[in-house]
Amino acid sequence: MRPIRPGDRGPAVTEIRTVLTGLDLLPPSTDDEFDGATERAVRAFQQSRGLSIDGRVGAETWRALDAARWRLGARTLYHAVPDPLTGEDVRSLQERLLEMGYDVGHADTIYGIRTSRAVAQFQREVGLKPDGSCGPHTMGALRRLGRKVVGGRPQWLRESDAIRQSGPTLVGRTVVIDPGHGGTDPGVVVPDGPLRWTEADLVHDLASRLEGRLAAAGVRVQLTRGPAPETCLPDADRAQLANALGADVFISLHTDEHANPEAEGVATYHYGTDNGVTSATGERLAGLVQREIVARTGLRDCRTHAKAWDLLRLTKMPAVRVEVGYLTSPRDRERLIDPRFRDRVVEAIVAAVQRMFFPVERDVPTGSIDVSELRAVVAAGAVVD
Ligand SMILES: [Zn+2]
Repeated sequence: MRPIRPGDRGPAVTEIRTVLTGLDLLPPSTDDEFDGATERAVRAFQQSRGLSIDGRVGAETWRALDAARWRLGARTLYHAVPDPLTGEDVRSLQERLLEMGYDVGHADTIYGIRTSRAVAQFQREVGLKPDGSCGPHTMGALRRLGRKVVGGRPQWLRESDAIRQSGPTLVGRTVVIDPGHGGTDPGVVVPDGPLRWTEADLVHDLASRLEGRLAAAGVRVQLTRGPAPETCLPDADRAQLANALGADVFISLHTDEHANPEAEGVATYHYGTDNGVTSATGERLAGLVQREIVARTGLRDCRTHAKAWDLLRLTKMPAVRVEVGYLTSPRDRERLIDPRFRDRVVEAIVAAVQRMFFPVERDVPTGSIDVSELRAVVAAGAVVD
């Protein structure tokens, strides 16, 4: 859809304003203009949901607004097939269950099978019929428990346990690598004399190099796109692809841009929202990738950040989006167009992926893994436990 932006008028704007009013972000009115107050409210909403903050309503913001209409308790929630219920009420329920230590995966706003199972487990434990749907009785039980039962970070424990139980080897893991953009969307484009550098090409090259290094270490690797696809796959589809493949790790590669050519450095993003809900393993993966890249390349450290983008929210495995430098920075660009530099970036990511599967107490210092040794281990036939 074409984003609805400041200055627009019409029924769609009225609808957006109504939702924002319901969220106490905008005073009530029947106006149908996307005015300055509406833009500020949209920005505040985007910030609260971990979306990119641009003050416009594109497809991703629209879905989040649409889902925000539902307050927990206003309708009965159940696992609907094939079109699961989604909404802010589902997210509130998931966050509540996560706080109490139930395994719902991410608070992804989707009432899927995992949420339904967690509800059934909760129902069993409080003596209700475990049908996995959340109606008035279950809501009543949740309300009575209130916020008393708040664990430390239960989702951290559950996700780390799953990784720990799977052992330290890379052999047989599935990693999905997602070169950003492609097709009709080149991403960041920077003319350079007769040349023209595009984000889509550079990140595809990085992805291919990474594919080679991981495959040599015994990893099953799948890329989300080829070098020159006809169309640009939406982020939600990239996430679904990784889910369908049962990937252990998801790595999305991008380069950044800024109007100021001084802006430079590497940043990583993992799933999380402003209310402190985060994917613990995603956060760990992002932290490892960030530290290894900074240590091995000298790119400026722009740190890791939590975002609720579709790509990170819908993926069911630890997922990270890496913005490897600013293509608009002459310093970063000069490095990125050097294939030897790209190899160092790739080695850093391989080392981070390896460290993901080391138990935390056996983790090694950043920059210390000799990536070439991984291949030797595989060649020597040191295979799965
Ligand atoms: Zn990008």
